[in-house]
Amino acid sequence: MNTLKIGENSFELAEDIIKDLKAPKDLGILKCIQCGMCTSVCPAARHTDYDPRELVKRVLDKDETLITDDIIWNCFYCYTCQSVCPVSNSPSVVNQVLRQRAIDNGKGKPKVAPFSAYGESFIEFGLGAIPSNFFNDLIKDFGKEWLELRINLEDIREDLNLGSMFLPEKDVKDINKILEKTGFKNRLNELRRCRDEKNTR
Ligand code: SF4
Ligand code: SF4
Repeated sequence: MNTLKIGENSFELAEDIIKDLKAPKDLGILKCIQCGMCTSVCPAARHTDYDPRELVKRVLDKDETLITDDIIWNCFYCYTCQSVCPVSNSPSVVNQVLRQRAIDNGKGKPKVAPFSAYGESFIEFGLGAIPSNFFNDLIKDFGKEWLELRINLEDIREDLNLGSMFLPEKDVKDINKILEKTGFKNRLNELRRCRDEKNTR
């Protein structure tokens, strides 16, 4: 029987994940007992080939092919797996780090490029707003009333004394400076290029 002894084997991939900024200090990935509780509650596993227990096993097996495996894009970060894990592991967080690696090495960029409009609205308004290119889908899901609400939201908020949902211009400028300094805008430009290339193919 193979016994995994922490400290005696090199779990490079797992250790990299533990050290990642996204990971909580007590992420229990090295304690995973492969009980499968995460998979039993995972809605993505119910509807696709995605399997959080297997994901964690592949990380512990140092399987770097995970980074280029499309399967990692099936999780939608509901965190149900984390809530049931008996050893404080979070396949959801593990997945997030893997995706970030996939984006860093270029393979994952086309996956997130369609969402670059969220970044654009962050630059424009200083906060997360639903980009207009998703409006048609939302109208399909929620009906035309949704669009009416969206268009009249500022007036409705004013009637309810809720104030504007938009930030003052000065704050938007300050946020833009932060987005510039932290490299957010450079990364967004890369994603835009990727999105435009995809659209012209
Ligand atoms: S629930 Fe936790 S311990 Fe069990 S397989 Fe999933 S990650 Fe491993
Ligand atoms: S966060 Fe991902 S892996 Fe965890 S239960 Fe939800 S869909 Fe499954």
